[in-house]
Amino acid sequence: MGNAHPTKIMPKTPRIKIPQSVRKYVYQRDNYQCQSCGKTKQETKLNIDHIIPLATGGSNDISNLQTLCSQCNQVKKHHFDSRFKRRYQ
Ligand SMILES: [Zn+2]
Repeated sequence: MGNAHPTKIMPKTPRIKIPQSVRKYVYQRDNYQCQSCGKTKQETKLNIDHIIPLATGGSNDISNLQTLCSQCNQVKKHHFDSRFKRRYQ
């Protein structure tokens, strides 16, 4: 079967599942705190977020990942703009 050597070049970053070890690394680096509102995992549910969304060319690299609570994650999804982006660069 022709599947052994995938040579397709994707214009967008593929949406891969973030490995558990990487998620743990990001949570630890961010002190298990939402990087927007500062809530901890005791206060809210934390998620791994792509700082620059994959759809706009962001990567799956650790430097593009941050801890956000589910609330801030939702807000960001609906209000992503350059001002918000600048806060994280
Ligand atoms: Zn938050």
